Amino acid sequence: MESIMRYFASSALLPDGWAANVVFTVDAAGRITDVQRKQPCPADAETLRGPVVPGVPNAHSHAFQRAMAGLTEFRGHPRDSFWTWRELMYRHAGRITPERMHAIARWLYVEMLKAGYTGVAEFHYLHHDVDGRPYTHPGEMSHRLAQAAADSGIALTLLPVLYRHGGFGGQPARPGQRRFLHAIDDYVALVDGLRGTYPRATDTGLRDVRVGTAFHSLRAVDGKEILEVLRALDAQDPSAPVHVHIAEQQAEVDDCLQWSGLRPVQWLYDHVPVDDRWCLVHATHVDTEEVARMAASGAVVVLCPTTEANLGDGIFPGREYLDAGGPARWAIGSDSHVTVDAADELRILEYSQRLRHQRRAVLASSTHASAGRAMLEGALEGGRRALGLPATGLAPSGRADWIVLDPDHPTLIERRQDAALDSWIFAGGRACVRDVMTAGRWRVRDGRHVAEEQAYAAFRDAVAALGQ
Ligand SMILES: [Zn+2]
Repeated sequence: MESIMRYFASSALLPDGWAANVVFTVDAAGRITDVQRKQPCPADAETLRGPVVPGVPNAHSHAFQRAMAGLTEFRGHPRDSFWTWRELMYRHAGRITPERMHAIARWLYVEMLKAGYTGVAEFHYLHHDVDGRPYTHPGEMSHRLAQAAADSGIALTLLPVLYRHGGFGGQPARPGQRRFLHAIDDYVALVDGLRGTYPRATDTGLRDVRVGTAFHSLRAVDGKEILEVLRALDAQDPSAPVHVHIAEQQAEVDDCLQWSGLRPVQWLYDHVPVDDRWCLVHATHVDTEEVARMAASGAVVVLCPTTEANLGDGIFPGREYLDAGGPARWAIGSDSHVTVDAADELRILEYSQRLRHQRRAVLASSTHASAGRAMLEGALEGGRRALGLPATGLAPSGRADWIVLDPDHPTLIERRQDAALDSWIFAGGRACVRDVMTAGRWRVRDGRHVAEEQAYAAFRDAVAALGQ
């Protein structure tokens, strides 16, 4: 984009609610510089062809797993579980080369943009070559992900993952985990190197790559290591988001209790200063006290409802969390990418709560009676924090990251404002997303990504080469 652009929306969801006849001014860097309401359509403005909504942040992704979606839906063991699924995932991970990582991630990010996501936090642990040795450039795989994000136009928050052990109490890692492992110094050097390559934005955050920190889980990293890494990395960027997988599975809770006498979330809060830059991924199995501590701390709980349902994880106590007081922040992620659709994640999140409580509109709030609206607002704010993005919503100084819903889609006919959101999320899904802009550029028009064919061809070759 070379100059200032203006866009006219007859209906747009702004930070303080729905507004009519809005004119957005966007500068050459893709930043919104002005938002005017109740305006006639200026002669030089491009008209946005449906309700305009901020793009949704996807707060948890393992990109390479997209290529195995649908391959694990058979019973291979009398008690199939997360742990048998993990064996298949490890086998698949063993065949990912840097070229395949790029091809799979690029196609996945194209799909994400088409499905309403405009940013993604990549929880990335597949660092090394198949024999466990680092690539010549230790950040090789991370750079492939950054390239895929740049090719597709999605904003990326890279979360290089520290993985040290095979189980609680420092158990040795297994051969299937050797591509994931780092010594502490090597991990710190990796993150430092990535921060040098993708330096932190100081003003607007318009760059498309940010670098955060991630600890795989309390199974894979111990408390001393967490504190050591944070001490080393915080010198450079004390506000970068910190992600960890926590309490996804009941067996994980049982093992943690056996090892320490504490549940995983309890253990984390007792041993590490968890504050509002922490993102607790899954946090499925939590008791009343853990729910209260999470809500009060300002940490973001990252929920991945389609993956959690697919893996048989359990149900997060969503209503209890929101009622626990404190900021109680949460975000959504598509995690294993068994499906890629922001609407799917929000719908399954609400449905799991309905099945649990035998009620409807469980996640609606006192501010928003519409469950779709209440959830979207939650996912935007929590997602912004999880990705380390500086501004939320369609307001001056924010990025021009928006999606335009299709008013001609059968489920959106005559639907306005919150009714359009509910119809998109509960009835129409990703097919309701017509156009998508990130950083002031159109990435999706009429439901097609501008670089879709090329991305698909490379993905097809990668999947074919991977086999099953
Ligand atoms: Zn995960």
